[in-house]
Amino acid sequence: MPQPHTLKITEIFSSIQGEGLRQGEPTLFIRLTGCNLRCDFCDTKYAWKGGQKLCVEEILKRVEKENKKFPSEWVCLTGGEPLIQDVKELIEKLKLNGMKIQIETNATQYQDLPVDWYTLSPKPPEYFFRTEFTDKAKEVKLVVSQELDLEIIQKMRNAFPEKVPILLQPESNQKWSLDKGMELLKTSLIRGLKNIKVSLQLHKIYEIE
Ligand code: SF4
Repeated sequence: MPQPHTLKITEIFSSIQGEGLRQGEPTLFIRLTGCNLRCDFCDTKYAWKGGQKLCVEEILKRVEKENKKFPSEWVCLTGGEPLIQDVKELIEKLKLNGMKIQIETNATQYQDLPVDWYTLSPKPPEYFFRTEFTDKAKEVKLVVSQELDLEIIQKMRNAFPEKVPILLQPESNQKWSLDKGMELLKTSLIRGLKNIKVSLQLHKIYEIE
């Protein structure tokens, strides 16, 4: 008998989406374990390793249970990097259950999936992203790290359609990064770049997951 498909999961929890254009909307998070990058500023290092192997049916059961506590029509697959695991079956079944799907990805991996909302977050030093995402991204989120500069923002603006916002997200709402984010916004505007925004992490202000 074929074994059921399993995924390594760090946590499943309901909250609000703290980042990006969907900020403030109730969202159920599935945090997948593992990442192919090792960013210094990563605030989810605990998801790099460990995790629990769960079959898709068990994940769906846990989603249903969580969703009773804090109902949401959105599920966000995050990590770690969710696209280093084969998430197709999970997404298809969540959609059959009427959920809308967001994926937060560093954009280095690609799978052809029925996703409603891709949040891309290319990472330093290369800020590489798979070009299959250029007409699929709903937003591009750049952490305001030590490495981020105007040339990278320009590169992202050139790569994605103007309707896709480039969000400058200060690193964990730290003062130096908040200041740098505002300065980068100003210099982007002076250069004539369109649809660049600063974006704070709402869940950190609320001190929730
Ligand atoms: S890509 Fe994201 S999850 Fe992976 S190390 Fe970087 S910040 Fe952490």
